[in-house]
Amino acid sequence: DTNEMEVIFDSCSSNERFARVAVAAFLTQLNPTVEEVSDVKTAVSEAVTNSIIHGYDQEIHKIRIQCRIDQNLFMVVVKDEGKGIEDIAQAMMPMYTTRPELDRSGMGFAFMEAFMDKVEVESALGGGTTVRMEK
Ligand code: ATP
Ligand code: MG
Repeated sequence: DTNEMEVIFDSCSSNERFARVAVAAFLTQLNPTVEEVSDVKTAVSEAVTNSIIHGYDQEIHKIRIQCRIDQNLFMVVVKDEGKGIEDIAQAMMPMYTTRPELDRSGMGFAFMEAFMDKVEVESALGGGTTVRMEK
């Protein structure tokens, strides 16, 4: 059994909450534990916040989230068409941030990796960023 959903929304910070709640609502059909829901919400929040702050530099553009359930596997993709990441390996290192002046701590990718079973990032300078996660 597979099931998919997709949402596209503006990159304003008030949609961070919308994004994690929408994903959590879709996840419900797998009867997740409270902890699993919380892990997925945290990971989605981090990815969406990154698109808002880094991808789009706080300008309003679209963020796309795709979710897929296949048997017991949950997949979520967070995609922006923002400025992209030059060096993905460096960006994913704990405590690496390009925006220390915004009080970012460089822990977003580390949280995604800690809370999800698999995290894959696809990005190119000027070509946007796609974060694929599984749980
Ligand atoms: P924190 O998440 O702790 O607030 P942070 O966002 O800087 O800090 P990460 O989420 O780990 O830390 O991201 C590391 C770096 O990767 C960012 O500082 C940014 O340079 C880059 N980055 C992450 N996501 C994107 C994105 N969607 N578009 C462009 N750059 C990104
Ligand atoms: Mg971040």
